[in-house]
Amino acid sequence: MSILASALVAAAALSAPSADAPAPVPAARGEVIGRSAEGRPIRALRVGSPRARVKVLVVGAVHGNEPAGRAVVERLRRTKPPRGTALWLIEDANPDGSAAGSRHNAGGVDLNRNFPYRWRPQDGVYESGPGPGSEPETQAIMRFVERERPRVTLWYHQALRMVVKSTGDPALERVYSRRSGLPRKRLPRYHGTAVSWQNTTFRGDTSFVVELAGGPLDAAGVRRHARAALSLARAVAPPTVVRRPIPFDAQRKADMRAYARRHYGIDDHRLRDPKVIVQHYTVTDTFQPVYDTFAPNRPDPELGELPGVCAHYVIDRDGTIYQLVSTRLMCRHTVGLNWTSIGIEHVGQSDAQVLGNPRQMAASLRLTRMLQGRHGISTRNVIGHNENRSSPFHRERVARLRSQTHGDFPKPVADAYRRRLELLPAPASLR
Ligand SMILES: [Zn+2]
Repeated sequence: MSILASALVAAAALSAPSADAPAPVPAARGEVIGRSAEGRPIRALRVGSPRARVKVLVVGAVHGNEPAGRAVVERLRRTKPPRGTALWLIEDANPDGSAAGSRHNAGGVDLNRNFPYRWRPQDGVYESGPGPGSEPETQAIMRFVERERPRVTLWYHQALRMVVKSTGDPALERVYSRRSGLPRKRLPRYHGTAVSWQNTTFRGDTSFVVELAGGPLDAAGVRRHARAALSLARAVAPPTVVRRPIPFDAQRKADMRAYARRHYGIDDHRLRDPKVIVQHYTVTDTFQPVYDTFAPNRPDPELGELPGVCAHYVIDRDGTIYQLVSTRLMCRHTVGLNWTSIGIEHVGQSDAQVLGNPRQMAASLRLTRMLQGRHGISTRNVIGHNENRSSPFHRERVARLRSQTHGDFPKPVADAYRRRLELLPAPASLR
């Protein structure tokens, strides 16, 4: 519970203002990102908002004789990506090869051996071109990826029937494997592939190959793979955060700074490079009394200090995430850790109730994972309030407070929370 939990009043009858209205979905937008050796356009199409922070790139074909994935891309044009994400679709990265029904481009080069990571000269079916990134199609893709930084990229090939293991986030490959029914398997480490170039150049982003079966996909297969691609977008979609800032004026900042000096020897009210995320529950049934407790800057009844207590986030029982305080500011939520931690409150009467609430937990895990990715916080430093004293970051100059804690989220509960956290995509995939 929060440091002020005991002072929380019963739920006010006030209803909370409505959540942010969903953004309208603009029409899909296409552009020519480059031209093939024979001058054919290579087109990319964006589906979803231009403001989406997270982009998923799907390439229908790069070998002209492996066209089955193009039908999946065609179907994805008519879908609505999850909120906060946009799809970028390149139906055909090798239009010359497609026109000729050939694996290679018009210059006889296997584009998926032409990328500059671990490129080496190869002949025959794996003809690598005269040098790394020598081909105009390769260059177009590289420029596009550098510009858009897709969080996830899917490359369709044929005909090995597998999701190919990459060095990206395995959780994302598993999502696709589960949804598509294709097993996840390893292939030899080929030289100069698009996937290896992406995964080594853009750390934290994931690119992998899906090998479809030979021949065209039937309608059910097209739907299944389009759903699998969308489930990937859902897996990396940012959580929706409703901003409901509490007043944090100059006086409160000055009080926070004085608190940080007294308790940590830090002459600052700003939270810099947070290392810990602390989970709490509110001992309320609704959000409003939590907000009403955190908003005023008044001494807390338990320790009688200023500034008023707060938490950066509060997660309601329906899964709504409210942000009350910027993560650039220290908040008083956990003795010993306020100098380096982000506090998350959960509306509820017990931690068991929170862990048993699927919507609240889904929101909580996703938010926590995103904060981990953004700030480089490892899962062992996602802790329950009750674990504050055993954190390696615990620091307290006031002797009588060194053993101070609260009963919320003790180790067994926090362990269960961390286990569920580890089932999500890697933190970098949700940064
Ligand atoms: Zn607490």
